[in-house]
Amino acid sequence: MDAAEFRRRGKEMVDYVADYLENIEKRQVYPDVEPGYLRSLIPEEAPEEAESYEDVVKDIERVIMPGVTHWHSPYFYAYFPTAHSFPAMLADMLCGAIGCIGFSWAASPACTELETVMLDWLGKMLKLPEDFLAGTEGRGGGVIQGTASEATLMALLAARSKIVKLIQADHPERSETDIISKLVAYSSDQAHSSVERAGLIGGVRMKKMPTDSKFSVRGAALQKVLEEDRAAGLIPFFPIHSSNQLQIFFFICKIFWKYSFNFNPHKWLLVNFDCSAMWVKKRSDIIGAFKMEPLYLKHDHQESGIVTDYRHWQIPLGRRFRSLKMWFVFRMYGLKGLQAYIRKHVGLAKEFESLVRADQRFEISADVVLGLVCFRLKGSNELNETLLKRINRARKIHLVPCQLAGKFVLRFAMCARTTESRHVQEAWSHISHLASELLQELPH
Ligand SMILES: *Cc1c(COP(=O)(O)O)cnc(C)c1O
Repeated sequence: MDAAEFRRRGKEMVDYVADYLENIEKRQVYPDVEPGYLRSLIPEEAPEEAESYEDVVKDIERVIMPGVTHWHSPYFYAYFPTAHSFPAMLADMLCGAIGCIGFSWAASPACTELETVMLDWLGKMLKLPEDFLAGTEGRGGGVIQGTASEATLMALLAARSKIVKLIQADHPERSETDIISKLVAYSSDQAHSSVERAGLIGGVRMKKMPTDSKFSVRGAALQKVLEEDRAAGLIPFFPIHSSNQLQIFFFICKIFWKYSFNFNPHKWLLVNFDCSAMWVKKRSDIIGAFKMEPLYLKHDHQESGIVTDYRHWQIPLGRRFRSLKMWFVFRMYGLKGLQAYIRKHVGLAKEFESLVRADQRFEISADVVLGLVCFRLKGSNELNETLLKRINRARKIHLVPCQLAGKFVLRFAMCARTTESRHVQEAWSHISHLASELLQELPH
């Protein structure tokens, strides 16, 4: 493909994408395929001879679309919102075109510098404490990680490395293995599974703290466990706060508040995956933890203080120019546009909540704070499992469940950018209809 053909095909692709998104609600939100469906639709091996663009493009509808779960359909209410917007998609194209790998400042100065400034913009939008911002010579600052899982793991590994150094400064006789074997990290029993996973990967024990009726950890309970653990010779080192109780602050956020903070713009902030924002108050904690300086990655400016080499802030070496997506989105929506978008989703969640509350057969299972409604039929877990199965089998809308205090609960998450009141109303009458059918089948 030369530039002339790219020009033509690019425009065709933009049309295809615009058509796809304009008409997405006509597609069935969840696919009908069985595991392994795709292999039989394409050859066993890559083609020996080059094929044409037409050959490839005509297979999108034949091979790909039948197996797509349409996350941006206004009938998709499963998992969590994943961000999506036209400005972000255009920025992603530009990112692909520049195609740089910005592991150090010198490897592509704009890639590093725009990222630092965008994380400052976003930090200010969230009103983060000043010391999380980079400014011009900041000790803190932000970085884009691929996912919250990576951000949590990085924070845990940096904290692990720091505590080992601190303890060894006073007790040079203690080995690293000995210290690590005594470390304990703490999370809530409502924390996301990625938190527990960070503990598994990082090789430190993780304690899940029980939560109260509002799914929050009580300070007194944590204090007691910390004292018991210290008395038993263990070393508490890493509290992670995650999800429910912090919904108030922002959906999908994970705080290790004293030292670092992470949340996913790729969930609710219109910046397409991947874009997980992480800030630290002391960049030296994270940079110092795993610094490697081979000659071929060194450059003339690295000692100058204001220069950031993001490779020290993350696990991979390579990194894309992801801050372009933030730049486009923040400028083209403005703070007001972003706020209006989030308020709209919160309003739709409230609307769904009042529909559920108006139906005596149902109950709300957790406070509706932002864009998520946890609800269930009054009755057994089996009854609710059957209802969910029927909802998903009908393929009109898509939901996933969760467990809250031993109860099987349906989650209705506001997800797509284009969801409107009429979709929520339609979804509810569908759920309500399936519930009526189910309840009528039960013996009276
Ligand atoms: C979605 C989510 C994660 C995992 O997100 P990734 O960025 O895919 O790793 C972690 N924690 C919370 C609270 C989440 O909602």
